[in-house]
Amino acid sequence: MENYRQSSQRQLLLKLISEVNGHIDAKELYRRANAQGNSVSTATVYRSLNLFKELGIVDERSLGQRHYCYEVSGKLDHCHVVCQGCGKIVEFETPLVNQLVEAAQREHGFNITKTELYLKGYCPWCERERELSLRH
Ligand SMILES: [Zn+2]
Ligand SMILES: [Zn+2]
Repeated sequence: MENYRQSSQRQLLLKLISEVNGHIDAKELYRRANAQGNSVSTATVYRSLNLFKELGIVDERSLGQRHYCYEVSGKLDHCHVVCQGCGKIVEFETPLVNQLVEAAQREHGFNITKTELYLKGYCPWCERERELSLRH
């Protein structure tokens, strides 16, 4: 039987993930969980993320990065832009994703349960840095 401490830590982690309104990686989640005066171990963070993933509450995304980030699941209709410079991820909603899902379902009879779409490039800040360094 699981104890109260475990389940309350899991609730805290889930709350933090839903609060970011976007994506968070395990390291940042660990930092935020412990910034609030709690002591949540890295093992608990990873175990909880795995559990959330299994339960389908949270989506794990790699988005072409070397590490995973997490977001509350259930949002099929969005796309990501990922900065190659600083790793920042911005998501935006577009009806195109839904159209793509519908086309795949219609043409191939699949029930699409997950989309992972991302575009890579440089954010305005990194792009400016790049321009500056190219000029010198
Ligand atoms: Zn950037
Ligand atoms: Zn997303």
